[in-house]
Amino acid sequence: MKRIGILQVWQESNSFNPVLTIRADFEAFGMGSGEEALIKFGTGEEVGGFLRGLKAWQELVEPVGLVVAQAWPGGSISKETKQWLCYAIREQLDAVGQLDGVLFSLHGALVAEDETDVDGFLLEQVRQTVGPDVPLVATLDCHAYWTPRMGRVADALVAYHTNPHLDRLQTGERAAHVLERILAGAKPAVTTIRLPMLITGEVNYTTGPVLAPVFARLEEVESYSDVLSASILMAQPWVDAPELASAIVVFTEGKSVLARELAEELAQMYWQRREQMTFEFLDAEQSVATALACKGQPVVIADGADATNSGAPGDSIHLLREMLKRDIPGGALLIMVDPQAVAYAQAIGVGEAFQFAVGGKRDHVFSQPLAISGEVLSLQPARYVLSGHGGDNLPIDMGDSAVVRTGDITLLLVEKTGPGSTPMMYRCVGLEPQDFKIVVVKSPAGFRAEFEPFAAGIVLSACPGCASPRLAEMPYKKISRPIWPLDKIEDWRSVEWTKSSDRRYQE
Ligand SMILES: [Zn+2]
Repeated sequence: MKRIGILQVWQESNSFNPVLTIRADFEAFGMGSGEEALIKFGTGEEVGGFLRGLKAWQELVEPVGLVVAQAWPGGSISKETKQWLCYAIREQLDAVGQLDGVLFSLHGALVAEDETDVDGFLLEQVRQTVGPDVPLVATLDCHAYWTPRMGRVADALVAYHTNPHLDRLQTGERAAHVLERILAGAKPAVTTIRLPMLITGEVNYTTGPVLAPVFARLEEVESYSDVLSASILMAQPWVDAPELASAIVVFTEGKSVLARELAEELAQMYWQRREQMTFEFLDAEQSVATALACKGQPVVIADGADATNSGAPGDSIHLLREMLKRDIPGGALLIMVDPQAVAYAQAIGVGEAFQFAVGGKRDHVFSQPLAISGEVLSLQPARYVLSGHGGDNLPIDMGDSAVVRTGDITLLLVEKTGPGSTPMMYRCVGLEPQDFKIVVVKSPAGFRAEFEPFAAGIVLSACPGCASPRLAEMPYKKISRPIWPLDKIEDWRSVEWTKSSDRRYQE
């Protein structure tokens, strides 16, 4: 019987979010170790997929729960949090003894105050503990960015094939299958092509006309019998890291030439489409005017710049300020993360006059608090189970909430960040998005999975914020240049810094 260790450290970081993510955020969102981790997290996402995949092995397997640590996308993790995660993993690995393989679910865009490649760092910790001969297969979000250390340490990488992310569980299953093949003797040969390009979240969804053919080809490539895994890593663009780039990663069963040919083909397909993956940037005023001009309801305004799904703080005031200037027949529905405003509403109570400056506290760089007056309509916890983009049976707790009416706007204030892409964030407190003319979501693309079926229109806004699609205006300090669209590049092959230093798999 094979003993397979199971690990997960999953968070997408946003370098521009000033609120650090700390140990308490992981503990509040999703933590478990040992046996308990598999019981708690074994029904969904990658860990659920690992277990399902291992069950399908020819040989009997003992899944060994190590550490599961998940936090919702947000600011970089603190130094102490990085160390704590590292100790937790090493301690569990030491305690469980010899393993035959390890499956590690990572996001691939996890940044600490003092480290731009935490995913690679954690993989290295595992490698140092288990030794060079135990196969280590890691899963990644397709918004990961590849790093040379990841490439050196992991035997194979397996990424999501969808955005909206509807295949987290299947990604775990695919990784378990790849590990089985490696243990059966497959020798991974890899080609990694880093592309010096960044695509904003609004346009990198895999169901749209630009990317659907590329991801269809990716699926086909992975189905070839000699291919272990094929990934397009589109990168979370709001990470200020020297390693930040898009990447194509193809692993085959020992077939170096095939890996190179397939990676080149996918790289060419993806690179060629970059100019099509742009859109017209509407400011807050234009976004609201466009939404009001649409027929029917609800019209979804995607506030991608403040997307909690992209690690932004979720307390932007730009759309709120604009909507307060106008009449909105049919009303508007907006969510904001503001624990102080929730506490104030709780202190005054339902039916009372709400006079408070909301927002602009977590993100004090791109927003400032906005004084509003209104009425407290209700107070209740904002909790639900997420199934869809980003999770399967994933319990979400956004803390206490307050619903405040101000002018034509119904404002849902919540204590804690969480998914900004699902109608459940509103429905869990009794607000139905279809009852409003305008509904604001805090997601650049993932919202499409659940909102597109009933939305009368979709408006992509480009307000200021930590996840603004105006990439050329973001205050990057550490990224490698040149990189498109900040710089003009005709041929990716001419960019030296993207050349892989993937020594372990060199052909
Ligand atoms: Zn993602």
